[in-house]
Amino acid sequence: MTHPVLSALGLGAEESGTYLGNGEWGRGGAGVLEPVNPATEEVLGRVAASSEAEYETIVERAQAAFKVWRTTPAPRRGEAVRLCAEALRRHKDALGSLVALEMGKSKPEGDGEVQEMIDIGEFAVGLSRQLYGLTMHSERPGHRMYEQWHPLGIVGIISAFNFPVAVWAWNSFVAAVCGDISIWKPSGKTPLSAIASMKICNQALRAGGFPDIFFMFNDTDNALAQRMVDDRRVAMISFTGSTKVGRVVGERVARRMGRSLLELGGNNAIIVDPSADLKLAIPAIVFGAVGTAGQRCTTTRRLIVHESIYEDVLARLKAAYAQVEKKIGDPTDPANLMGPLNSRSAVEAYLAAIEKAKALGGTVESGGRALTDRKGFFVLPTIITGLSNDAEVVQTETFAPILYVMKYERLEDAIAMQNDVPQGLSSAIFTTNLKAAEAFLSAAGSDCGIANVNIGTSGAEIGGAFGGEKETGGGRESGSDAWKAYMRRQTNTINYSDALPLAQGIVFEL
Ligand code: NAD
Repeated sequence: MTHPVLSALGLGAEESGTYLGNGEWGRGGAGVLEPVNPATEEVLGRVAASSEAEYETIVERAQAAFKVWRTTPAPRRGEAVRLCAEALRRHKDALGSLVALEMGKSKPEGDGEVQEMIDIGEFAVGLSRQLYGLTMHSERPGHRMYEQWHPLGIVGIISAFNFPVAVWAWNSFVAAVCGDISIWKPSGKTPLSAIASMKICNQALRAGGFPDIFFMFNDTDNALAQRMVDDRRVAMISFTGSTKVGRVVGERVARRMGRSLLELGGNNAIIVDPSADLKLAIPAIVFGAVGTAGQRCTTTRRLIVHESIYEDVLARLKAAYAQVEKKIGDPTDPANLMGPLNSRSAVEAYLAAIEKAKALGGTVESGGRALTDRKGFFVLPTIITGLSNDAEVVQTETFAPILYVMKYERLEDAIAMQNDVPQGLSSAIFTTNLKAAEAFLSAAGSDCGIANVNIGTSGAEIGGAFGGEKETGGGRESGSDAWKAYMRRQTNTINYSDALPLAQGIVFEL
């Protein structure tokens, strides 16, 4: 029987994972994906994976579509994205429920993810009239110099399971107003949320008389994803996922001199200084560490607390975790605060990290085990103390709700600890001391792409550029001037004089 959440979106128990354009969905022929509800372990549906021939059709159609789309005026391209955002608003409740069901995040978080799609859509509409270039003063008389931004081509989007729909919208909506065509390879763990999003947006585009600008394929073994990574016809690969896979993707794209945008793992820390307002800090730490069951790239994984308040903070956290433990369960039930991990292998990785931490001398202060009294991939949120920042488990992103709590004496040591990991995504300090806040934000402070004061590490707003440094990959998506990654810059010089002066005063007389 088809799950009612799927029916509400017009999806059946058997779906095609290939959008070929022209309103056609492919027949597949390269295996089947069976996404599972992580709260019940039930198979939610069967998705036919795309064939090589279908991939070729998609790329050829995307190439043809680009020739038309690149010369469509940018504000008109914005109108296409506006229709998508409006359609998503109408389907927000149903799509948010499907995201919660398939990924395992709470219903408010599922709805929030769809809201992010709507927000980036509206941002992109405004952006479609603001793809500004600069004008420069030429050193040569009678010359004008300026730069303009042109569409790049086909953008390949490979996304992670934990944000099964928003990451696509962040990329594809901005790419669309920039004049690009996108091809999406969603996570194999969440294909139904992806198919629903494609259907909603492509129906809106067709009803509005727009051509196909969004294509999609799915695969079971990442062979087609790798083919796209190596495909010279795809100008940019925007990859969101683990550092392990992102490193391979980045290297392969670089080998063909393509462009890549990498949004990889994080190992995010919060510093709590002696002046911190703990009424703000404790809920921020708990939400950051436990929200989405620790499966956000911006999840708080390390807590660096001043030694003078360490015992107090730890005691408050343990009390808060005891409250969360009572509210673990079906993520679609609004009474619950924490849902399951997404897969059995994620539970195994969680348990393995805890065993390693114990072997290294760590103490489990809270949680530390899977919930085996029920179906689903549920675990307890966990606090571990007694490890140093350079312990291997502390240096590694385990995609689960494990928080390592450590002490510091001097602020510079806390900042050094915060920076001393391979990743560089999100960071925060809780302080009411102006000097501490400014030191944390200074050039000698946090080395992350995101640095916050008195708010936690997770929960980005689309207006800012999102991404991180070091092994997080260096990419920026979403707001600010992140759109520039989806366009190519061209510098133009126009001579309106009767002479041909050379730059740098060079004389070349014939
Ligand atoms: P993953 O790396 O396992 O998979 C990501 C995507 O890559 C999936 O679509 C997968 O099918 C595909 N893939 C796997 N092998 C591939 C290959 N060889 N070639 C091409 N594609 C391949 O990651 P995941 O488990 O889905 O997601 C969790 C990870 O994503 C975490 O590390 C998290 O921090 C990170 N993430 C980062 C951000 C960010 O913005 N920085 C956002 C969300 C998630």
